[in-house]
Amino acid sequence: MTLTCRIHGARDLRLEDTGVAELGPTDVKLGLGAGGICGSDLHYFQHGRVGAFVIREPLVPGHEASGVVAAVGAQVSRVKPGDKVAIDPSHPCGRCDYCRGGRLNLCRNMFFLGSASIFPHAQGLFAQTLVMPERQLTPVDEADISLGEIACAEPLSIGLHAVQRAGGVFGKRVLVTGAGTIGCMCAIAARLAGAAEVVVADIAERPLKIARQVGADNVVRSDIDAATLADRFDIALEAAGAAAALATCLTAVQRGGRIVQVGTLPAELPFPANSVMARELDYVGAFRANGEFDSAVQAIRTRRVDVRPLISAQLPLSRALEAFELALDRSRSTKVQLVADQELLN
Ligand SMILES: [Zn+2]
Ligand SMILES: [Zn+2]
Repeated sequence: MTLTCRIHGARDLRLEDTGVAELGPTDVKLGLGAGGICGSDLHYFQHGRVGAFVIREPLVPGHEASGVVAAVGAQVSRVKPGDKVAIDPSHPCGRCDYCRGGRLNLCRNMFFLGSASIFPHAQGLFAQTLVMPERQLTPVDEADISLGEIACAEPLSIGLHAVQRAGGVFGKRVLVTGAGTIGCMCAIAARLAGAAEVVVADIAERPLKIARQVGADNVVRSDIDAATLADRFDIALEAAGAAAALATCLTAVQRGGRIVQVGTLPAELPFPANSVMARELDYVGAFRANGEFDSAVQAIRTRRVDVRPLISAQLPLSRALEAFELALDRSRSTKVQLVADQELLN
């Protein structure tokens, strides 16, 4: 049997035995290593939808995971049983105009694991056993890099892409709003890219403490000290997904500055578009990642960046419901990961 976590609708998460897909010649059978619960997984759990993506059949959530190779198809050459692997959840088609133009994350036919953006849904990674094409996998040989860290490659790739969209942060002063996993990944990525100063703002104490641990130069309670942020940054990365945070970004950047929207904001919100005009701001979006996954794996396997402070808890897959509830509680959690049930391993 294969224990699998499936969301049937809002607040309806079940653990079911789904069986395992057949192993094709270029496929790899994996045991779950660690799988991080992301904001979008939580949206599916709470509301049965993420923005326009609505659950129409049971959905296996999860797109941030690592695995351990259990078996390989006849033509597989890059991984072998026992290997730890990072799993890239993004399958762009490679043929459409966007793919050919080098913007794979905008692919017209994107198959992104753990997403209800297409129907039938692209089933995700929160399962005891997975079958993945070899091309989605990157082996990580370093013995001291944990499966939990490897599972952070996907969210780190989001931070790297956001910084890419910021258009060069070397020597720049960067503000990140939101100190959750993605905000912290943005801060890590900005630092890695040579930002002169990285400040992280949030409305809660605990996430700011984590932001400090992963390398923010300074942290600010934006609900108390927002005024101290005004008019002093070159770049702002919005990763809170809150209207107030966006407002902070708009006043925090100097004239000619750039704001990158990384988080999902409420569907309708007041937007001071004239300040974009009069202060000549650049306002750009960053959606998932475009080829930054391998760089993220590389940064983690070499510990150029240390993502360990972000992993706040690991629970076995059989306690998925408890893990989702824990992940919803920002006062206790940054990244909650599901891991294999030891007693089910064989
Ligand atoms: Zn995610
Ligand atoms: Zn495409």
